[in-house]
Amino acid sequence: MPEQSSANASQKPQRKILVTSALPYANGAIHLGHLVEYIQTDIWARFQRMRGHDVVYVCADDTHGTPIMLRAEKEGITPEALIDKVWSEHTRDFAGFGISFDHYYSTHSPENKALSESFYAALSAQGLIEVRCIEQMYDPIKNMFLPDRFIKGECPKCGAKEQYGDSCESCGATYGPTDLKNPFSVVSGATPIRKESDHYFFRLSDPRCSDFLRQWAIDDARLQPEASNKLKEWLGEEACLSDWDISRDAPYFGFEIPDAPGKYFYVWLDAPIGYYASLKKFCSDTGRDFDRFVAPDSDVEQYHFIGKDILYFHTLFWPAMLKFAGYRTPTNVFAHGFLTVDGAKMSKSRGTFITAQSYLDQKLNPEWLRYYFAAKLNGTMEDLDLNLADFIARINSDLVGKFINIASRSAGFISKRFDGALCLESLQSTHALSQAILATAPEIAQAYESRDTARVIREATALMDLINGFVDSEKPWELAKQAAESPERLPQLQAICTIVLKAFAQLTIVLKPVLPATAERIEREVFGLERPLSWSDLEAPPICRLQGFSHLLTRVDREAIDALVAVNQQSLG
Ligand SMILES: [Zn+2]
Repeated sequence: MPEQSSANASQKPQRKILVTSALPYANGAIHLGHLVEYIQTDIWARFQRMRGHDVVYVCADDTHGTPIMLRAEKEGITPEALIDKVWSEHTRDFAGFGISFDHYYSTHSPENKALSESFYAALSAQGLIEVRCIEQMYDPIKNMFLPDRFIKGECPKCGAKEQYGDSCESCGATYGPTDLKNPFSVVSGATPIRKESDHYFFRLSDPRCSDFLRQWAIDDARLQPEASNKLKEWLGEEACLSDWDISRDAPYFGFEIPDAPGKYFYVWLDAPIGYYASLKKFCSDTGRDFDRFVAPDSDVEQYHFIGKDILYFHTLFWPAMLKFAGYRTPTNVFAHGFLTVDGAKMSKSRGTFITAQSYLDQKLNPEWLRYYFAAKLNGTMEDLDLNLADFIARINSDLVGKFINIASRSAGFISKRFDGALCLESLQSTHALSQAILATAPEIAQAYESRDTARVIREATALMDLINGFVDSEKPWELAKQAAESPERLPQLQAICTIVLKAFAQLTIVLKPVLPATAERIEREVFGLERPLSWSDLEAPPICRLQGFSHLLTRVDREAIDALVAVNQQSLG
């Protein structure tokens, strides 16, 4: 379904939407770089729910592979114990940032095992699996084949020492692990030997695959322009896709391939299937029909949010796996760029490799980060920068100084002078402020739909300026002073403050996908509402009185940010 088709949801039928974020690897902590994606997806999912659509948002920990196996060994625990521990940490962090998964699972699940086996069987039946003997680097002490990242040596091109088996960080050359000079195993230090082994390949070079992928990825023009250009490079007339090695030899933490003892599915085979395994568990827990989501003729839209580094897996391997295993294919894949902090790559030594847990532990408000990322994300694959000084300035001047201030400037008069009662006549009238918000709402909805939340925030900030300008010109504080001597001025004071608070409620609706916790407090604590606000409430927010007004959001101070950076520097190592 085209993105631009839903500017006005009230006249459209309810959409059914499956949305995913990429699966974080169960080998480390969630950091702010990860959160770019989860916050982006969450804002989009919440927006769709507010529009009345049926959204299922699933994700899972990606738990298989050599790094997990070796880390568990190093910690003296089983891989299962390691991934359980990390799952608890990840779900705690995501909850802390308000990520509203409908289900968060693990790829090490019975559903994922069964689904991976059935994908494999279906691809075999299509003649798309082939066994081939290949030569690989093998650690003779540890008795295991070594992934590229577990072999180091001298770059074959420039001679730089201590380079990984796939690319040189010094000169940027890419090569195979057998090309390294003086190679050694990172696991044991031994010199690797070459050893032959049978591997299972998904035959992406089959013309059926490239024909399908050209149609899906290029001809249908669904992808972002930058992604589309990449795909043209990979799938151009001349280019031929290489077959994909989907097996790994024991010892390996993963699912053993049926009828192939000692051979395991490569983690990247079962990871995307993990989206469906999580969905399957969600469906069985809630009585939903799994097949309705995944059948080739499904009427559910399916979107994957990912980082640009895993575009290859999500726009080539995954659609091809789905197509030839007899499933529906993704409606779209949305890639985002990487996070930099103060213009540079996140760095442990500079303390800018900031973990989600440290942010929460320092009692920084998660909604600040959601707001800041929203203000930076524009739906493209460009990198985005968390500039810490800009972060402080924007939160303080815009989020607190403009948005929250609208309520601060008007709520007190309503509480003190009118015992919380809003002016019903003003609520029902369509004042120019309220009209301005309604007139901008379709553009804001369109910006949410296309993940251009930078535009959402720009439009919302312009509306904040408009409302604050109205307060400046109407001067309710002067009316309040005059009313102390001339009570006939009171209705005007009540009317002005009501107009402002209605506009505040409307803006709350507009910003709710970005600021869910703040919006919920406004609903309950400020307006005493019994049900959550939805997009269709924009025209007439169901408010009639003011319950109270407390500090909804505080300002950020520089010391708190400095402390956050210091904590992440100390935790080095
Ligand atoms: Zn080099």
